[in-house]
Amino acid sequence: MQDRVPLPEKLLDAVEARREEVTALTRELIRFPTVNPPGEAYTPCAEFIGDYLKRHGFGVEYIRGEGAPGDTDRYPRTNVIARFDGRVPGPTVHFNSHIDVVEAGDGWTVDPFDGVVKDGRVYGRGACDMKGGLASSIIAALAFMQVYPDFPGAIEISGTVDEESGGFGGVAHLARLGYFSPPKVDHVIIPEPLNKERICLGHRGVWWAEIETKGEIAHGSMPFLGDCAVRHMGAVLQAFEDELFPALDAKRTVMPVVPEGARRSTMNINSIHGGQTDDFRPGLPSPNVPDRCRLTIDRRFLLEEKIGDVKREVVSILDRLKRDRPKFDYEIRDLMEVQPTMTERDAPVVRAVAKGIMALFEREPDYVISPGTYDQKHVARLGHLYDCIAYGPGILDLAHRPDEWVGIDDMVDAAKVMAIGLNVLLRDGAH
Ligand SMILES: [Zn+2]
Repeated sequence: MQDRVPLPEKLLDAVEARREEVTALTRELIRFPTVNPPGEAYTPCAEFIGDYLKRHGFGVEYIRGEGAPGDTDRYPRTNVIARFDGRVPGPTVHFNSHIDVVEAGDGWTVDPFDGVVKDGRVYGRGACDMKGGLASSIIAALAFMQVYPDFPGAIEISGTVDEESGGFGGVAHLARLGYFSPPKVDHVIIPEPLNKERICLGHRGVWWAEIETKGEIAHGSMPFLGDCAVRHMGAVLQAFEDELFPALDAKRTVMPVVPEGARRSTMNINSIHGGQTDDFRPGLPSPNVPDRCRLTIDRRFLLEEKIGDVKREVVSILDRLKRDRPKFDYEIRDLMEVQPTMTERDAPVVRAVAKGIMALFEREPDYVISPGTYDQKHVARLGHLYDCIAYGPGILDLAHRPDEWVGIDDMVDAAKVMAIGLNVLLRDGAH
C-alpha cells in the first residue's frame, strides 16, 4: 500500500462548488443530438463548447475535418480545441472528448436528447459516452485555474467528432496536423466512461478484412456444371472452427483487458453473404449457383502479436485450401487496421491520475485495457505521444444502450481526480 496522499482541500472544494455547473453542462451537451452517422449538430455543439470556454479566458480554434469520411457542407466535421496558457511556460495537459454519439435506438423511457435529471443521474444519449466526461474535465480545469491562477504550463480541452466511426475526421485529422504531438501537448486524458476508480492504459489491436471465395455461376438444377462459392466459404469457416479459433483462444496477454474474457485473441465474423440478394420477396429466389461469397472478419489482437503474423494465420489457411481443395480460389482485402497500444504504468499522466484516485478513494486504481479501440490509437500512432490514458466517469456497459445515464456524484468525483492530476502534472513538477 502506498501512503495516504494529502488532499488538496481547496481544490476539491472548488470542484465540489461546481456540482450544479457540471450537471447543467452535461444536460446542455446532451441536447445537441450529435448522432453519428450522419454527424448531426456537430457545429452548434462545438461552438457551444468553444463559447463556454471563451467566457473563461480560453483561446478557441475550430478545425474542420475536411475531406474526412462523411464530411460535407450539410454535415461538416467540426472540431473545437480550446487552450488556456498559464502565467509561465510549462507542460500542456490536454483533455480530449468526442462529441459524437451513436443513434438513440428504441427502448428509452425518457427523451434521449432532453438531459433529464432523476435520482442523482443525468439521462440521455451520450450521458456517459461521453458528454458527462467532457463536462467533468471542463469543471476540473476551471476549478484548478481558479485555485491556482499562477499555474505554469497550459490546459487544453477539445471536443472532437467521429470517434464512434473511427475518429478519422476528429482526433486522427488533428493529430496529423500536429495538435496531439509534443511539444504542443505533453499529457493527454480522454474522459471515456471507464469508471472513476480505473485508469485505462490503452486497447487491443484491430484487423478487419473481407474474404471472398470464387465460384462459377450455373443453373441451380445442375450445380455440377458450376462451382458453389458458398460451399467454398463453408470450408473456410470449418477450417476457422477447427484451427483458428482454438489457436486464438489459447493466446494470452499481459494486457489487463477488462472484461477478462478479452485477455486473449478474439475474432468475430461480422457478416457473410453469398449468392443473390437475400431479399427476394415477393417471389422465389432464382435458381443459381452462387459465383462469389463474401465474409468480413473482425480480429482483435494483443500487444504480444504482430499484425503481419495475425494476417498470416488467416492467409495460410486460405492458401492451404487453395492447394488442397479443388477449384478453391479467394481474395482478401484489408478494411482497417489499428495497432494495440498500452501506456506504461509509470508514465507521468498515469502516476498523476493514480495519485488523484488514491487521494480521493483511498485505494489503488485498477489499471485496465479496453477490449475495443478509441481515439488513443491516433494520439499514439499519428501524434507519437505515448503519455495518454482514458479516465472518466460513468459505466462503460451503459454506453450505446437505452436509458444511458451518468451519475452526478461520479462526474464530481472524476473531476476531483482530474483536478488533482492537473495539480500533479503542472504544479508539482514546478517545485
Ligand atoms: Zn466513447
